[in-house]
Amino acid sequence: MLSISRCTERLYYSDAFLYQTSSTVTKVGSDYVELAATVAYPEGGGQEADVGTLELVSGESIRFIHARKMYGKRATIPGFPDIQLDGVIEHVVHPDDVPLLAGLKTGDEVQISIDVLRRAQLSLSHTASHLLYLGVAQVRPDAIDWTLGCHIRPDGARFDFGVEQRFSLDEVRAVEQIANEFVARGNAVLTYAHPEHIDARYWECEAHTMPCGGTHIGNTAPIGRIAVRRKSMGAGKERLSCQFEQAAFDIAPFHTGHAGPQPGHSGGGTS
Ligand SMILES: [Zn+2]
Repeated sequence: MLSISRCTERLYYSDAFLYQTSSTVTKVGSDYVELAATVAYPEGGGQEADVGTLELVSGESIRFIHARKMYGKRATIPGFPDIQLDGVIEHVVHPDDVPLLAGLKTGDEVQISIDVLRRAQLSLSHTASHLLYLGVAQVRPDAIDWTLGCHIRPDGARFDFGVEQRFSLDEVRAVEQIANEFVARGNAVLTYAHPEHIDARYWECEAHTMPCGGTHIGNTAPIGRIAVRRKSMGAGKERLSCQFEQAAFDIAPFHTGHAGPQPGHSGGGTS
């Protein structure tokens, strides 16, 4: 069985607003680069991957268009049924930049930066998706047991549920209202690790806790108004999606440090 002892240090856990770092190349693949440490969140838990650039010592710049976690180890931690621990993160290089990999080798230093606006949007979208889910948990607890999956994009998020009974218009409205009440209260969003492993992580808001290893913003207020829509995906499958009417994303925390978006910060955006 294939065994990889390398493990990429995931800096987005210790600081969700860190957008660049210098690191050492641990492997150069045919179309990807592996680093000792990264700020790039790999696709996982429904959240899309970060994209960004690797700056070489030579001054050349290599774009990466995807990040993926590989060779994780299956583990059994209560509450985390499908978790993969450790592993490496591969930064998949833009096809046009693949020839530049010839100038890169294991041990080289690079500066990695992520697309900050995309990360801010993904973190906001991901946080909003939890509020949608909390709404469903109150309005249709039967659906929670049949969650088929989720997809978190920069401009919105969706959940699929395997339920025979469709969501009524009133139920969709009730879910939307509950989600927006969380936003209006502007409470803190916390993330922290399970004592057994840094990869087993929790999301928490107003004493609601869920297992989640994604990236989030530090407060519900900057989400603005959430619009919830329902779509039938055929017999026995319902989709709820959320979008944001206010798109005044605040990326300042990435440049100023670790405070995270503050309540009201994005309220007066006119852009
Ligand atoms: Zn989450």
